Order: sequence, then C-alpha cells, then structure tokens
Amino acid sequence: MQILAVTPEIFPLIKTGGLADVTGALPLALAPKGVAVRTLVPGYTVVMEKFTPTKPVMEYVALQGGPARVHAVEIAGLDLFVLDAPHLFDRVGGPYGDATGIDWPDNWRRFAALSQVGGDIAAGGVEGWRPDIVHAHDWQAALTLAYTRYGKAPDTPSVMTVHNLAFQGQFGAGIFGSLGLPGEAMALDGVEYYGGVGYLKAGLQAAWAITTVSPTYAQEIRSPEFGMGLDGLLNARTGELLGIVNGIDTAIWDPAADAHLLAAYSAKALKARAANKRALEERFALDRDDGPLLCVVSRLTWQKGIDVLAAILDPIVAAGARLAVLGTGDAGLEGALLAGAARHRGRIGTVIGYDEALSHLLQGGADAILIPSRFEPCGLTQLYGLRYGCVPIVARTGGLADTIIDANEAAIAAGAATGFQFSPLTPDAFMQTIRRAVATYANPTIWSGIQKQGMKSDVSWSRSADRYVDLYKSLLARKGT
Ligand code: ADP
Repeated sequence: MQILAVTPEIFPLIKTGGLADVTGALPLALAPKGVAVRTLVPGYTVVMEKFTPTKPVMEYVALQGGPARVHAVEIAGLDLFVLDAPHLFDRVGGPYGDATGIDWPDNWRRFAALSQVGGDIAAGGVEGWRPDIVHAHDWQAALTLAYTRYGKAPDTPSVMTVHNLAFQGQFGAGIFGSLGLPGEAMALDGVEYYGGVGYLKAGLQAAWAITTVSPTYAQEIRSPEFGMGLDGLLNARTGELLGIVNGIDTAIWDPAADAHLLAAYSAKALKARAANKRALEERFALDRDDGPLLCVVSRLTWQKGIDVLAAILDPIVAAGARLAVLGTGDAGLEGALLAGAARHRGRIGTVIGYDEALSHLLQGGADAILIPSRFEPCGLTQLYGLRYGCVPIVARTGGLADTIIDANEAAIAAGAATGFQFSPLTPDAFMQTIRRAVATYANPTIWSGIQKQGMKSDVSWSRSADRYVDLYKSLLARKGT
C-alpha cells in the first residue's frame, strides 16, 4: 500500500511540536506492516540544507508566484518529497513566522502551494508513482484534499488528521481566485467558511475519513466548547470521525539508551535517575535536596494552561517541591515564570528556549511532569513521561485523559496507577493534586510502583499504527465498492 502524506513539519527535519514527532514516527511504524509512506514537506531553509538536490521529480515554471521543484530524497529513513520553492520557503525564521513569531503574511499562499503539489502528486505527477491514499496533516496540508477532490484525483481515498483544531487556516475570500480551484469549490460543502476560505474546514469536508489523535478529543471536538466553530461539521460527519491515540518513537525516547542523559536507566534500576536529577539541579540553579522535582516542557501558552501554573508557583514552593520549566511562548507567561524563578531562587528554575536535549534530560531526571492543558488533542510529553518514569500530573482532557491512569486509592491498590489527573482546570484543583503527588512521593514504594507501571505502558506506535492500517484498508475497500 502506497501513502502520500502531506505535512508542514516532520521530525528530525523541522519541528515546532507534536505534529512533527507523529509525521516522523508513523511512516517508520507503518513500514513493517506493509504500508509505504512518502511524505511531502516544504523545502524550508533548514530542510534544503540537509541534502544536495539532484534531478527533480517535478518542476513548476510558476507555483504561487515563482518557480518550484520537487525533490525525492531519503533522510533519516524517511522517504520524502521536498517542495523546493525559495520564494515561499527559503526564509530566516520558523516554518510559520519570522524570528519574532509573527506569522508570514503569505501563509495562505505558501500552504496552498504545498497542497497544490500534494494534489498533483496524488494525480500521478511523479512519474512511476501514484499513491493509493492521500493523508493530510493539519490545516497547512488540508487544502491538498480540496485539490484532489476538485482536481484530477477525486477517486483517491483520503484522510484528514487533526492534530489541533485550534489552528484552522482561515483567510479572506479574496484569496480564492489565486488558489486555482474551480468556482464550485467556493461553496458551503467546499472551502467556503464564514464568508472566507477555511483550509482545515476544506480538508474536513473533502476527506473520506477524519482522524484526530485521541478518542476523547474526537468526542470533545463535537461539542461547542471544544469544536472551535467546526463542531457542526464534525457532528455531521461522525460516521467518518475516528480517534487514534499517538505513539512515540521508542528508539529516540529510550531511557536505557538516550545520549542526552547523563545516566541511562531502566525500570529495574531507577536509582540511576538520581544522576540526571543532580544535573538538572545544576542546569536550573536549584537547591540540591531529596524532595520532589517537578518539571514542565511545553509551549508556554493559554492552551497549555500555563497561566494556571503561574498562579500556583508560590504554593508549589510552599509544598516543598522544586520546579524546573523549559519552554517558549507568550511573553507574558514567560515573564511570569521568570519572575517566579527570581522570587524563589533555588526552588524554581526557568529556561526560556527550545532545547531538544534538555527536554530529554528533564524527562530522565525530574520526578514528575506537569501538564495542565485546557485542551489536549493527544499530548506527547505525558507519553515520554510514562516511558521515562517521570510521573505525569495532567488535566483530565483529551489524550491526557486517555493515556494516564490516576493514582486514586483503588488504582494504587490494584497496581494500575500511572500518574495523577485533575479536573476542573483551576489553580485549586491543580494545587490539590500536586499536594497529593508530593504526599505520594514521600512513600518511595508507592511512588516507584507508579513509575514502574508507567514505564510498562505500551506507548509505542505499534498498536496505533495497526489502527491506521485498518483505516487505510477500509478506505480502499470502500473505493472498491
Ligand atoms: P504540542 O504539539 O501541542 O506543542 P505535544 O505534547 O503534542 O504538544 O508535543 C510537544 C512536543 O514538543 C514534545 O515533543 C515536547 O517534548 C516538545 N517541546 C515542547 N516545548 C519544548 C521546548 N521548549 N524544548 C524542547 N522540546 C519542547
């Protein structure tokens, strides 16, 4: 089975969040199951630097305002189509915005171009290769499914995966004329969205199947509270809507063989984690003691509930815990966390920045990871936490609810607990649960039992990859009928 995946991010080439981890890991998990994935990604500067282009497999004299080429390359075991369009992607900054975080004003054009090329490949644009199924990830790739639907590949089965419904790619109606779609596409059941053009909406409308990254989030997004304006559409398509929880790359995230750790360890030798904890104390300028060290590895945003965390910094310290924060995001939240560190020297350490290596060390050395998300499609950091014996303390929402078993008395007695959940998302409920975790930490037998149970959880891709295979097969069967 041949799949064309289209995505704006893929690990290890370009990553701003969980999406990249998923699109980088899923092809490797699917390959042994007989599914070959080739992934179309934008040729951002950092991507083009990773290989030497030879003969392109496709060429455009003009693609959204400039010449473009598509290169087929293999990098890090991933089969890629790289869209080399310097006028769109060769820029200093991130994939979606400049160095200060302001979105590129032509994002509609950049990701229309990516999607148009996706549509062309689906229609057989690359000589000798045609996908059986097209799989688009998030709004930046979503228009691919409009290009297949209204273009030359309407019979190609398609999947739209929503990694975060909050990002939808909504633009004014004025861009429609530049998209190269037929007039009929500007309709309620097409790309039209509240009078403008909605990229994700177009993908959700055109897809043969819609997936999101956890069963609970698949339910939640059908409600007005989580549906972000798309709950009506999603309710109309519930028959095609499915939640498949993400896995993680257990080779990259392996405490027994992680080069970013000072000391590797396994569930049988948890004591070795202490060396990593000592390294974190140094790195975050924290007091050295035997009390619990909590950590955060996150985008510092409202979605992630970091404002709620910021509201309980003083009580966290009063409860005897220390806190190490790694993240970037809203300036106000960064400031609040830096101020907390300044107020509580030795007890709170804040590192503003994006640091893959340090994120591994935090999972490998901290005792617990705090994830107070307002909504969380799947969440990966709690899965890394499970695998690394860094006990997740999570808000009960989305994928967090699906992947963590709360350490209530019954779960502890049954040996099933893997972390702590709280609800509602208020400073009080969060702090109560942190106190519960701190009290549990004081009992090393129970605490290490929770760590070990988490480390036993199957967080690999294997089972979830099977669910994608089942989905792909069902779509091909539907095509055949
Ligand atoms: P989201 O994709 O919504 O940001 P996820 O939990 O799904 O949330 O994925 C976040 C990913 O980004 C994880 O791999 C996490 O380790 C990583 N990450 C987030 N912030 C940082 C940071 N400041 N430094 C390093 N890695 C980070």
